[in-house]
Amino acid sequence: EIRIRNLQKTFGSTQVLKGVGLDVGDGEFISLVGPSGCGKSTLLRILAGLERQDGGEVHLAGRRMDALPPAARDIAMVFQSYALYPHLSVRENIGVPLAVRRLSRWQRLPVLGRWWPGSRACRAEIDREVQAAAQQLDIAHLLDRKPGQLSGGQRQRTALGRALVRRPAAFLMDEPLSNLDANLRVQMRSEITALHRQLGTTFVYVTHDQTEAMTMSTRVAVMMGGRLLQVGSPSQVYFDPANLQVAEFIGQPR
Ligand code: ATP
Ligand code: MG
Repeated sequence: EIRIRNLQKTFGSTQVLKGVGLDVGDGEFISLVGPSGCGKSTLLRILAGLERQDGGEVHLAGRRMDALPPAARDIAMVFQSYALYPHLSVRENIGVPLAVRRLSRWQRLPVLGRWWPGSRACRAEIDREVQAAAQQLDIAHLLDRKPGQLSGGQRQRTALGRALVRRPAAFLMDEPLSNLDANLRVQMRSEITALHRQLGTTFVYVTHDQTEAMTMSTRVAVMMGGRLLQVGSPSQVYFDPANLQVAEFIGQPR
């Protein structure tokens, strides 16, 4: 369960989050939609610990998260831009969180140079987990390639694999499919839905694609100007918008 209370964030003179509150139940798939610049990515980045809020609180499974560094949060984030390490293979990219978890603090510094951790048993264990995730995502045959040698869909699968091996309590996804072509997007959409069903993990999913939001989610949160205007089931938001702004946004052909 993620509990967000009165989150506020200001960049320079612009207040980007104006007191956002939201409860996301265990196993929910909640889509966050809203116009460009309304604060969706900022909200996700704060949940992931990549950005610090000015006010308000975030709790995960009853535990206050605000002071925890990103790696200590039981959360994995997937970005639109994939954010893979270009000099590491697919295998290593997926294995990074597992390797980092096993390295002691003083070993962490050279992590991206020669990072593969010491003992053979440990390496074999990481390999097994990487292999399992890669199989699940249908990229087991690509493990020795570098990100530069992959298609967009294969890169996004690699990024998903890197999130998957952490077995987090929640996934945060920021427009993960928006760089893919229409066919692939539809295919990946159902794969992510299947992943959600299978894992039963909580998803917070930012998308510009209303079909995605309406078909994948248990609930949809509509954000505008740094506030949540409505949070409800897809059909509530679609057929019973809370106000004119929501109606206009949801009704927009896109
Ligand atoms: P999009 O749908 O285009 O991705 P978004 O809803 O994700 O938009 P955010 O990226 O959260 O929007 O940005 C919200 C506002 O905060 C924007 O006006 C943006 O310019 C501003 N902003 C975001 N990050 C920073 C930053 N690091 N410094 C200054 N302003 C920022
Ligand atoms: Mg964004």
